[in-house]
Amino acid sequence: MKIYNVIGYSILSLYLLACIYFAPAALGPWLGLCVGVTYFVFFWFLAGIYLADVLHLGIAHRSLDYKDWFIKIVVIVNNVFGVYVDPVAWVNRHRLHHKHSDHAGDPNKLASDGFWRTLYLCIFPYSCNEDLAADKIFKSWPFRLVANNYFALFSPVFSLGVLWLLVRDWRFVLVMWLGLRIFAIWVNMIQNYWTHTRQYGYRRYDDAHDNAMNIGEWLPVTATFSACLQNNHHHYPGLLRLSHSPDEYDFGFATVKWMKSLGVVKATEKGGQIPEDVRLGALGF
Ligand SMILES: [Zn+2]
Repeated sequence: MKIYNVIGYSILSLYLLACIYFAPAALGPWLGLCVGVTYFVFFWFLAGIYLADVLHLGIAHRSLDYKDWFIKIVVIVNNVFGVYVDPVAWVNRHRLHHKHSDHAGDPNKLASDGFWRTLYLCIFPYSCNEDLAADKIFKSWPFRLVANNYFALFSPVFSLGVLWLLVRDWRFVLVMWLGLRIFAIWVNMIQNYWTHTRQYGYRRYDDAHDNAMNIGEWLPVTATFSACLQNNHHHYPGLLRLSHSPDEYDFGFATVKWMKSLGVVKATEKGGQIPEDVRLGALGF
């Protein structure tokens, strides 16, 4: 088993065991486990919709066109109750990441950065020297509310407090709150380190200017909403799906299709165009 899968499954196993062990007496171990799993799955899924589907494909690349009200609800609910990520800073960093992939100017990682350095950069990325995030929607009140340092301090305190009000046990609250965020860092490391280091994964396109790789196993693809298909994505960043063949498992695309069935998203002209050398008979959207 690949090291990133060993680490990912270990985090999940330890989380489940910790939920059982630290469950408050009032809940008991099995109800405690149910509460822990529900919290984890709900906020992991919401963070995936927020980052991979809405911020990434909807705003940063403009491959998908979401209803404005839907974007704003996801931005508020995720950042008030879930894993806080400044949306404007994230979009700016992501655009710089594509512009300078693995070279000076990429806030996520330089080609020479190793595992521990990239882990540090997940929390404290390189500073951005350009502002590529001047989108109109960033001027709306939900984005102005959450995209600042005061809210970045408020959000973790508030989300911890709400959890405590629900379960009234600090050890159990910390297991759930920290467990989800440790898993989020692993997801971030899949995208920033393991799929940008040539010794892992596979390449469909032999692009010399970056180190983007595809990782296609079930856990990383599901956990990252398919953002680990980096080699495909860096080759055609405008396409609305990250799998470039019907054989590639694509959880993120399934979630986008689900949101389309709910009527909250459609393809943009750019996002819906299949480039000639992509092995897809149809987009499937
Ligand atoms: Zn991208």
